Amino acid sequence: MGNVNKFLLVWNTPFWNPDLQYIGFTPQTKGKFNYFLNVKRFTTTNALMTFAFGDYATLTESMADDDIIYEIVGHLQSIYGNIPNPTNMLRTKWGQNINSFGAYSYATNGTTTEDFDTLAKEVNNKIFFAGEHTNRGYRGTVHGAYLSGIREADKIIAL
Ligand SMILES: Cc1cc2nc3c(=O)[nH]c(=O)nc-3n(C[C@H](O)[C@H](O)[C@H](O)COP(=O)(O)OP(=O)(O)OC[C@H]3O[C@@H](n4cnc5c(N)ncnc54)[C@H](O)[C@@H]3O)c2cc1C
Repeated sequence: MGNVNKFLLVWNTPFWNPDLQYIGFTPQTKGKFNYFLNVKRFTTTNALMTFAFGDYATLTESMADDDIIYEIVGHLQSIYGNIPNPTNMLRTKWGQNINSFGAYSYATNGTTTEDFDTLAKEVNNKIFFAGEHTNRGYRGTVHGAYLSGIREADKIIAL
């Protein structure tokens, strides 16, 4: 499994341009809070959402909220200067979450495309597997998951 985590931060007033969709940032550390989605663009909430990817995503899961906020605000301060801390933060810890243990399947060294076909193999025409990890063409995506559901439904209908 690969890992990604999301961080939603709320402020009383926006210090960023509310018309922007994305605010990009090039971090020193790979995968560390490298872009911000402007939630204010599509809602009434003064919020930005940022992400941690890969090894850094896993590292965040052992960090306290205050440390996360410190790192994120550090990135934003290098763009916007002296900004306040957020009033609230919501975060995921998908690597530790017992319902996921990660964000989506990841092809590491030694993985072959056949591995994804293996994960899609039904058992005795009784148990069928859908999910992004079973779609070799579109693994790790919503459309991959969706198409795998149709694929398995078609198999069941054809029984
Ligand atoms: C931060 C992030 C950003 C992403 N961005 C994109 C994007 O921009 N575009 C894109 O296409 N994809 C994106 N993805 C990937 C996409 O979300 C996944 O590939 C897709 O949701 C996988 O769908 P799924 O049905 O295979 O699995 P899931 O959506 O994970 O569904 C599995 C379900 O099974 C449940 N479950 C687990 N264990 C049990 C159990 N024992 N009993 C009962 N239920 C259980 C889980 O709670 C969950 O609801 C992103 C993923 C993350 C994490």
